[in-house]
Amino acid sequence: MFADLHLHTHFSDGTYSPEELAGHAHRLGFGTIALTDHDTVQGCARMAVACAALQMEFIPATELTAEIDGDEVHLLGMFLNPTHPRLLVETAKYQKVRTDRIYEMVSRLNKQGVPLKPEVVFKLANCQSPGRPHVARALVQEGICRNMDEAFDRFLKKHRVAWVPKFKVSAGDAIALIHEAGGLAILAHPGLNRNDSSIPKLIEEGLDGLECFHSKHGDAASQHYLSLAEKYHVLVTGGSDCHGMSKGKPLIGTIKLPYSYVVALKEKVASRGGSAVVA
Ligand code: AMP
Ligand code: ZN
Ligand code: FE
Ligand code: FE
Repeated sequence: MFADLHLHTHFSDGTYSPEELAGHAHRLGFGTIALTDHDTVQGCARMAVACAALQMEFIPATELTAEIDGDEVHLLGMFLNPTHPRLLVETAKYQKVRTDRIYEMVSRLNKQGVPLKPEVVFKLANCQSPGRPHVARALVQEGICRNMDEAFDRFLKKHRVAWVPKFKVSAGDAIALIHEAGGLAILAHPGLNRNDSSIPKLIEEGLDGLECFHSKHGDAASQHYLSLAEKYHVLVTGGSDCHGMSKGKPLIGTIKLPYSYVVALKEKVASRGGSAVVA
């Protein structure tokens, strides 16, 4: 039995529908998956139905963009209640920030003489939680860039001309929101942050675990974060962070998290009085 606890659909910047993603997971033999779309839980209802039809266990989740000491961190909220009222209110605010940011990015592109229209990005995104990958795909679709990497390298990477900093919730507030919605707060892909110094502070603020296994972590990074998780007595998760096709094939299947880690997560949720049985 194995799981993938980090997946995106077209409810944020993934390209698969919940049904397509559930189908891929099922064909690859996954028994459990979590949906972690950026700053939204809107795909969870459809994913729950799609997983139930395939007799897979589904964990409702999200990936919140937060900030600690000026650095961006991504916090996974796992096993949260996707109908929790304040979670819906707060994520709607983050989605508004994302939408406003698309207009600003397009405006900066236009000032550079790049003729992209915001409607083109929104039509392609077709979701309430748009992000830079949608702008990148629009630049490719319009023939302005050859591929997404070129779009990020020329325009969208940090400090490039169309990069717009985004208001982020503090990590402490994001962790509190995840807990209030019944979830566990996990630091996503710590190996991509290149800054472990925030980890003790995040744990003081209530962080429950580290995503030790991730498609962009090498073996050394996985081992490093496993040892940190042991040192700090926090939980371990893992996931592919699949956004759809990536350089010809999807990332789903690259991480097969042993189910024993899911059991430990469920025990923690149950110990807090939450219901971990969400299939
Ligand atoms: P945003 O949340 O709008 O700042 O966009 C962040 C997203 O962009 C993350 O999901 C990354 O996986 C994605 N991303 C960053 N760099 C690239 C790249 N070179 N090609 C494709 N996606 C990227
Ligand atoms: Zn993403
Ligand atoms: Fe992330
Ligand atoms: Fe992600």
